[in-house]
Parts: sequence; structure tokens; C-alpha cells
Amino acid sequence: MDDGLQEDAPEKDFVWQRRKDFFVLTTGAAAVLTLLFVTNAIGLVEWITGGVVMIAGSLAYFVGSVPYYDKANLVETEATVEEQTPPEPPIDVLVPFLKALPFPAVLVDTDKRIHATNEGVLNVFGSNAKPGALASAVFRNPDLLAATDRVAETGAAERVEIPLKGDTETWIAHIHAAAGTGSVTVVMEELTAVRRAEQARADFLANASHELRTPLTAISGFIETMRGPAKDDKAAWDGFISIIAEQTERMKRLVADLLSLSRIEFREHRPPSTTVDFSALIQHAALSLAPLANDRGVDLSFAGPDVSLNVVADEDEITQVIQNLASNAIKYTSKGGTVQVTFGHADTMAEAALASGRQMPDSKRAILVAPRASSRVPAVWMRVTDSGEGIPAQHLPRLGERFYRVDESRGGKIEGTGLGLAIVKHIMVRHRGGLSVESIEGEGAGFGMWMPGTVQES
Ligand code: ADP
Repeated sequence: MDDGLQEDAPEKDFVWQRRKDFFVLTTGAAAVLTLLFVTNAIGLVEWITGGVVMIAGSLAYFVGSVPYYDKANLVETEATVEEQTPPEPPIDVLVPFLKALPFPAVLVDTDKRIHATNEGVLNVFGSNAKPGALASAVFRNPDLLAATDRVAETGAAERVEIPLKGDTETWIAHIHAAAGTGSVTVVMEELTAVRRAEQARADFLANASHELRTPLTAISGFIETMRGPAKDDKAAWDGFISIIAEQTERMKRLVADLLSLSRIEFREHRPPSTTVDFSALIQHAALSLAPLANDRGVDLSFAGPDVSLNVVADEDEITQVIQNLASNAIKYTSKGGTVQVTFGHADTMAEAALASGRQMPDSKRAILVAPRASSRVPAVWMRVTDSGEGIPAQHLPRLGERFYRVDESRGGKIEGTGLGLAIVKHIMVRHRGGLSVESIEGEGAGFGMWMPGTVQES
């Protein structure tokens, strides 16, 4: 009843207003006509004709405007009703959006069955993830299932992080109510790489602090001894001081390697731009490594063509590659052994990989860096072969991981940071080159590196 009254009121006002307009118009026009007639401006015939035309016109104005008002009223009423209770969109409206998503996504209907999926879902949930399948048979993960049920019930969106594929992958499921129909959308986003990077960063920090703490503990321990129990035992001091000096050297090496690694990582995505002579870099390295080889009683030899080899490279970084590989070979070869550094050029990267790669029959081999440069471009290569104790096959693929040392497991005493090969790997990635290793345990190891480069025309 109330509604009826409220709706009638404006219509009444409107009709009354129209009536007033009608009377004002007709009275005004009649007055003007009469004035003209009285002042003899028009005759009786014109007065009557004008009166008829004027009454017909204002009548038409009055009658004609009322239906328009009604129509406007009607449309307004429909719009109000529409606003109050919007119709629910059918679930299928969501399907094209689901298909267009760049993430694997699933639409679950009110019966808790898969209504639609998109590309990528099979890869995440397996071949069961097809329309019609029960969500519980597809999702499997109890947290994901429980969250899907809650969202269908409450309509409040949720995010759940879940492990998939036997814990090898981490995904986050974004679950939303689908248009108030009681169905839900589940959009999957992969976090594996992010979580791995976080883990690697945490491991790196833990390893770096551990590696730094070990020599520091030794240094502070000896200082305490010299201040306390051995305060007056000056004869023992020499020994303590040489250990402190050794540990300080170790710390210095570690800090230098850490800094060098972080600098190289920072520049890794900026390719080098200077042209340098690869042969000259190897000859310089030969000179600087001779004292180390002498100290260790290792026979170090260099052999390569007597030509200049042009490479677009960072001079310091390539020098570091040569030095790290050759000094490792010297370090891990016992007295009386040999280390040979050979180098050369090839028409293609593929040929350079072969020249620097497999040369030991029946060896175990691993590619530590796969080159990013085309296998058809001309290249230069270097190989460092030693007659040391070699590297067991299971360690080969892991060489170059930060702080990874085979000698730790062998219980060896050779000084090292476990960062040298990690630095070499990063440099080779930056130079679009490759790095390989082969070894026969007990017979020695051979490291090969190759990268784009040409013989300099004379
Ligand atoms: P480190 O500072 O320990 O030498 P690297 O990253 O240079 O660190 O090398 C990692 C590990 O690889 C070494 O600890 C060593 O066990 C092994 N390795 C590297 N080069 C050789 C080699 N020529 N012969 C035998 N083992 C090697």
C-alpha cells in the first residue's frame, strides 16, 4: 500500500503541473488575441480562428506529454528493480576467462566437480584433471581441498601453499568464489624457483659464515692461549704465530673469492665488450703460475699455436678462469706429477668443445656450463689436464656449486675455499662459453673451456 502511494504522488504532481501549463498558455494567448481585436489589429474572423488554433495546440501539448512521462516512470522502475537484485551470471561465463589465464586454473562447480580447466592444469594435477571429475580426486592435497570447501561455503577468498609432485615443486593456490554460484576458481602459481632461490641464499649465507668462522675461531683460540696458559712459553709462540698467519691468509682468500663471486654475478647479464688476445692471457698466466708449480714439484707445460686469438672478453675474468683451472690442477696433483695446459682455435664451437673435452679413454664426464653461443660460430678453447688423483664420478656434476669440495669428503688437507669453480662457471656463462670436466679416479682430471673467438688476421 505504502509503495503504491509513493509511486502515485509524483504522477499526480506531474499531471497537475501540465494542467497549470495548459491554463496559463490558453489564458495568455486569449488575452493577447483579445487585445489585438480590441485595438482593431485583427477582425472577428481572425480572433475566432486564432482562438481555435491556440486551444488545439495547448490541448495537444497537455495530452501528448503525459504518455512520455509514464514511459520514463516505467523505465526508471525497471532499473531500480534490476539494481536491487542483479541476476547471477551462469558459471559458463567464467570459462573464457579461465582459458585465457596464463596460469593453470580450475573451475569447480557446486557439486564439487571440475567444471572447466585450462592449459597447464594436466601438468600440475595430472590426467585426472578433466571436466566432470571430482575435485577431491584431482586436488588430493587435504589443505587445498579444505580451503576449496571453505571458499565455496563462505565466499571469502583464500591462498594456500602446497607441495606437489612428491615435494619437488611448490605451488600457491589462489581460491576465489565464482560469481556467488557456490562454485570456486582455483588458480595455481608456481613458487618452486622462488623458494629454491631463497633456500640457496640461506645456504650460501650459512656456508659463508661457517667458512669465515672456522679460521676466526682458530685465530682467537691461539691468541687466548698466548695470553693465558702459554703466556711465558715464548718458544711455542713461533708455531702459534705461523698458524695465525695461515688462518689469516685463509680468511683473506675467502673474502677475496666471495667479493669476486658477487662482482661476477652482478655483471653476469652484461656481456663483455672489449677484444683481448686469448693466447697472450694464457702466456701471462703461465708466468704467474710457474712459482706455484715449482713449490709443489709439479711439471707445468703450455702448448698452443703461435698466433693471436681474438676474443670479446673481460681480460681479468678470463685470466681468472685460466688461473683457477691451472692452479687447481697443480694443487690437486702430487709431487712429480704433470699439468698440461693446451689451447687453440676451431671453426665452430662444437669442434672447440670436442678439442677441449673428451681425451681420456673411459673417463667420466660432465658439462658444467652449456654454451649459450651458437654451435656454428668460430671459437677458441683451452684444456687443463693433470695427473693428480682425479675426481670420483658422483662428484663431477656438482663441481662449481658454491663451497662444494670433493676433498672435504676425502678428508684431504689441501687448502681451498670451494668457490674457485663457482667463479669459473659464472664467468663462462657471461662469456657465452662452455665448461666441461672429465676424470678417471686415480689417473687425473681434465677441465675444458671454450668460447666464441677468432684467429687474428696478420
Ligand atoms: P677449492 O678452493 O676447494 O679448490 P674449487 O671450486 O676450485 O674450490 O674446486 C672445488 C673442488 O673440486 C675442490 O675442492 C676439489 O675437491 C675439486 N677439484 C677441482 N679441481 C680439481 C682437480 N684438478 N683435480 C682434482 N680435484 C679437483
